[in-house]
Amino acid sequence: PPSPPPRSISIFGATGSVGTSTLDLVRLNPSAYRVVALTAHSDASGLAKLAREFSAEVAVISDAAQHDALADALQGTNTQAWSGAQALLDAADIDADWTMAAIVGCAGLAPIMRSLLRGRSVALANKEALVSAGALMIEAARSSGATLLPVDSEHNAIFQCLAGGNIDEVESITLTASGGPFRTWTTEQMRAARPDQAVAHPNWSMGAKISVDSATMFNKGLELIEAHHLFPVGLDAIRILVHPQSVIHSMVEYRDRSTLAQLGAPDMKIPIASALAWPQRIATQCTPLDLATIGQLTFEPLDTERFPGPGICRAAIAAGGSAPAILNAANEIAVAAFLEGRIGFLDIAAIVSDVLAGYIPSAPQSLQDVLAIDREARAMAAVAISTKDRN
Ligand code: NAD
Ligand code: MG
Repeated sequence: PPSPPPRSISIFGATGSVGTSTLDLVRLNPSAYRVVALTAHSDASGLAKLAREFSAEVAVISDAAQHDALADALQGTNTQAWSGAQALLDAADIDADWTMAAIVGCAGLAPIMRSLLRGRSVALANKEALVSAGALMIEAARSSGATLLPVDSEHNAIFQCLAGGNIDEVESITLTASGGPFRTWTTEQMRAARPDQAVAHPNWSMGAKISVDSATMFNKGLELIEAHHLFPVGLDAIRILVHPQSVIHSMVEYRDRSTLAQLGAPDMKIPIASALAWPQRIATQCTPLDLATIGQLTFEPLDTERFPGPGICRAAIAAGGSAPAILNAANEIAVAAFLEGRIGFLDIAAIVSDVLAGYIPSAPQSLQDVLAIDREARAMAAVAISTKDRN
């Protein structure tokens, strides 16, 4: 039979860990996809290389200072070189059957909102956007008929476990957590943790920011907020379970006490492939699950004393209003300061708590509101950091 026409796709954050994994899957299935837009922050040559390989229509570099470098690197191709923040929105305006949102941080929020308002299918890796503006994003998707496809491995697992089920019949959702590189460390050991130790995740290979979030376990807290928006079962029905092997990616318990789990090797290409091909399936070259070799799956409760992050996140989403956006902004700034060696590992949670303590509980009504809150919280976090700065 004739093969179906290729689906047009755009990838925001194409040069990152999730972006390049997405392009690896496109490489495996070249006739199934046609690349419309690729974006990156400042790596013009890396972006141009990808745009050439995939014959992208448009390549967008957010950092306008890199415009000429991008344009030069794209000489002789049909790819247009765009730059700056507005160009990211313009790229979201170009029609595409599927859009990957894989920018890290609140920086990816505005183009996601644009894609959602255009009624697109948006594969969401960028959890920070949903943490900062969850209600607005869900409402935008509802009003336009856009589809949100969760890419985060836990949320993709839940999405798969909910297929054919009814969210009203769900009793609870369990987010599994690897526990990160410091799962067995004492608080005193964590006090001296260095950036290189924090980004060395035992199971997953990821960008620096999410790797630090995994080490503090703020990642699981952000994912709790993400799950709360994507799967409205009530905050109390969303639980966290430490599972060091990262084989069970999450679980859904129905009211008859039947529990469904999704399993697989800890490889982001598996949930990305699921979102890319949804509602169909594509082949991947990922390692098959071999439970006989793994031998044992183990579980332990979250230690809330050593890892305050998830509790801070649960309190912020319960408080509502602008608290989650403030939390996210403070965490982004604190993680960056830790990676620069300006603050210690335990200072991250302390700074997030400090900034949240001074927050005003009004709910953002618009994207502009969220971006204003985000800017303000970043400034507050910068002040909190300067008092702790080791340099
Ligand atoms: P990464 O740092 O590897 O890549 C980030 C991408 O975003 C790059 O293409 C970069 O150029 C772009 N970018 C960075 N800052 C930007 C800015 N200010 N403006 C525009 N573009 C910018 O990150 P990653 O690990 O691929 O993670 C991307 C998102 O996916 C994050 O929200 C992360 O939490 C989420 N996620 C990642 C993984 C993973 O395995 N890496 C798993 C689950 C969820
Ligand atoms: Mg995850």
